[in-house]
Amino acid sequence: MPIGNNHTVPSPTAILNPATGAVITSVEGLTEGEVDAAIARASSAFETWRGVAPGDRARLLRRFAAAVDAHRDELALLEVANAGHVLGNALWEAGNVRDVLEFYAGAPERHSGRQIPVPGGIDMTFYEPLGVVGIIVPWNFPMAIAGWGLAPALAAGNTVVLKPAELTPLSALRLGELSLEAGLPDGVLQILPGPGRVVGRRLVTHPAVRKLCFTGSTEVGRTIMSGCAEQIKRLTLELGGKSANIVFADADVELAAPRAPYGVFDNAGQDCCARSRILVQRSAYDRFMEHLEPAVTGVVVGDPTQATTEMGPLISPAHMASVASFVPDGAPVAFRGTCPDGPGNWFAPTVLAPVDPSDRAASEEIFGPVVVVIPFDDEADAVRLANDTPYGLSGSLWTRDIGRALRVARAVETGTLSVNSHSSVRYWTPFGGAKQSGLGRELGPDALHAFSDVKNVFISSE
Ligand code: NAD
Repeated sequence: MPIGNNHTVPSPTAILNPATGAVITSVEGLTEGEVDAAIARASSAFETWRGVAPGDRARLLRRFAAAVDAHRDELALLEVANAGHVLGNALWEAGNVRDVLEFYAGAPERHSGRQIPVPGGIDMTFYEPLGVVGIIVPWNFPMAIAGWGLAPALAAGNTVVLKPAELTPLSALRLGELSLEAGLPDGVLQILPGPGRVVGRRLVTHPAVRKLCFTGSTEVGRTIMSGCAEQIKRLTLELGGKSANIVFADADVELAAPRAPYGVFDNAGQDCCARSRILVQRSAYDRFMEHLEPAVTGVVVGDPTQATTEMGPLISPAHMASVASFVPDGAPVAFRGTCPDGPGNWFAPTVLAPVDPSDRAASEEIFGPVVVVIPFDDEADAVRLANDTPYGLSGSLWTRDIGRALRVARAVETGTLSVNSHSSVRYWTPFGGAKQSGLGRELGPDALHAFSDVKNVFISSE
């Protein structure tokens, strides 16, 4: 059932376990009228929530974090069952929601404006909340991405209506219940399951939704951006990626090669930050491939409930078919890991090489456990290849030369980049895309700015 809603709708969606194909439960999608009612509740709750003293808002967010922590195992198991995440990752994700709530619980009491020297009086700025914030979440990290949006939005004094993806609504629905148990007032956080074309679309078109955070495909992001233009609606977009993992010959190749699978096959490659293009300096190419092969064939793929499993299934049969289309008969498979047979959406980790940079597998987002390896000649060639994409979300580079690390980190057109690691999203630091990977930044110390408008007030002293 949708949180805070008693209406029924005709066709509930069956929610499936991607590792087994079994039906877990079914969830009713909201009608447009029900979405409107939820937005009306959020608008009315906003009038109270914005007036809650900063210290009290902080306390409520800390209680919400504590409720998430107390239900960490339960939330993780929901994500394992519904999204096919491996247990270790799912536990990390539930812990991440808790940590993000705690981090932004520190914000309401520190969201200070400025006093600016002006002649004839006093000038000050205030950070005003925007009102109702709509958050649209994809299926690949249903719980973590929900937390990255809702925590700073609530901390800044907004109310939130959050639409989970059709395939993966369960962890978000549970977070909504936990928020109420923690004492957040009714209407402050509502979870609205349902199709993108009904619920998501209404969050775009409803004038009382003042800001939208959309995470999903670049294609849908483009339609959302044009929809928001109608009302000059504030918008954050976190979209697709085709990130590069650049390995220079002077790197610790014996370390970079076995780490490479974990930069792309995590969450079965269904990760917007997946480093799905490995660029290797030609002089180190053979050595790199030698060390990459055992690491790829050694990735443990299987039952996501087992603590030792490293990679689970793909989200759906349709998505599996889409991933498989990048590895047709005769594709240049350099080597491949293994995966279970039988029910479930299984796809073995796959390395394609040699591949031309213009090939489909090297240029389009695959969103599955398929990676291409492409050689390069020198630093300029590496940067050219890395930037030869409309995307710019993430990336890694491996070198022992600190000057090169800085030069290349600055030259690659991307929102985040890690040197000698595959670190991606850390809640302490800003996250978001360059070029067609997105607009705006989430997380980090400045996240509340995306959920507030600056108001300038001048008081005459004359
Ligand atoms: P998607 O774009 O199909 O759907 C994302 C969400 O938008 C879903 O909740 C969906 O119901 C909703 N939606 C669909 N059509 C809509 C419409 N017309 N109006 C409003 N809402 C609509 O994406 P997906 O398949 O769920 O997720 C995969 C994509 O998300 C990949 O491209 C991936 O790279 C991207 N992604 C990006 C980030 C990031 O932070 N940059 C993170 C995760 C996923």
